[in-house]
Amino acid sequence: MNGQVAFHRSIIGEEEIEAVTATLTSGWLTTGPKVAKFEADFAHYAGAEYAVGVTSCTEALFLSLVALGIGPGKEVITTPVTWCSTANVIEMVGATPVFVDIDPKTRNIDTTKIEAAMSPQTRAIIPVHYAGQPCHMDEIEALASNADLRIVNDCAHALEANYQGRSLGTYGDTCCYSFYPIKNITTAEGGMICTDDEELAKELRVLRLHGLSLDAYQRYSGGYKHFEVVRLGYKCNMSDLQAAIGLCQLRRVDQWWERRREIVARYDAAFGSLPTITALVVEEHVKSALHLYPVLVPERDRVMEQLKTRGVGTGVHFTALHLHKYYREKYGYHTGQLPVAESVGAHTLSLPLYPAMSDEDVAYVIEQIQGVLLT
Ligand SMILES: *Cc1c(COP(=O)(O)O)cnc(C)c1O
Repeated sequence: MNGQVAFHRSIIGEEEIEAVTATLTSGWLTTGPKVAKFEADFAHYAGAEYAVGVTSCTEALFLSLVALGIGPGKEVITTPVTWCSTANVIEMVGATPVFVDIDPKTRNIDTTKIEAAMSPQTRAIIPVHYAGQPCHMDEIEALASNADLRIVNDCAHALEANYQGRSLGTYGDTCCYSFYPIKNITTAEGGMICTDDEELAKELRVLRLHGLSLDAYQRYSGGYKHFEVVRLGYKCNMSDLQAAIGLCQLRRVDQWWERRREIVARYDAAFGSLPTITALVVEEHVKSALHLYPVLVPERDRVMEQLKTRGVGTGVHFTALHLHKYYREKYGYHTGQLPVAESVGAHTLSLPLYPAMSDEDVAYVIEQIQGVLLT
């Protein structure tokens, strides 16, 4: 036992190192054959027709809103219990985020409260599948289709998830994934947009690279071709170096999920009898991607501090976003408006959950939690 368990450690093996080295010497570094292969393999895994590689999930969400024509004067409904990107991208396109409180059981957006938050300006919903557990997609799809709203899924936690037996990657207009180091697979930094809409996929490819009619690989492979800016685009194309890592990681995604499931089972068994800890409930008829193991505890900051002293790294997912300075000051949000989200934000703590953890690491975390909460 090492007595130290980091909040997260990525698995980067010889395979990734060799793939990156081979790409470095291949003569092609930016978006090219590796990205094309990663996109194809990723789309297959997610169950989607098309996948578009970008530099982050933040850019994936942003480009989705741009491609779907969501801009100034429009409103987008989302959850406050998420990473800041989810709402920041709504601001970035000039639209207004409308936060809806969460369901205390799943900590996902409370679908029974969405309708009351809609206005004639509402154009889209961004469901966040918290900790890897799918939102109630049948209800979200029904609400969206009644009001003619687009659905942009924030799947940053939810790569392996499915809802009622169907891969989450097949729901909504787009599904956006993150390959940031603490996510279920990593490319150091990176993201992916999945969609079944061929026109939307084409649009996203143009938008990720300056709005050009041809990408660099198309321009230079097989002789120079002329190209032009066809619309205002951005610069967030995934590189072949990132895709080379992603291809290796994707091959082990299910094996890693199995390992996280074992760890979750051990945590659940150990914490079930601790009255001061509230774990997340995974509902029936879903497969959670098991990205995080968040628990609610009294005196969260004290518990975090003591765990740190005992060598256990933890994270906070998430402090309620509507109460962050920018949103508070811009929209006048205040404490008491979204009570479930605020309470979760004040009490949540995420424990280490990743396949590089040994059985000893898991036992150590359990022992330290028991030590802190029972004293
Ligand atoms: C990590 C995360 C993002 C952003 O991902 P990046 O790839 O870092 O841009 C967005 N939403 C959620 C819920 C996340 O956890």
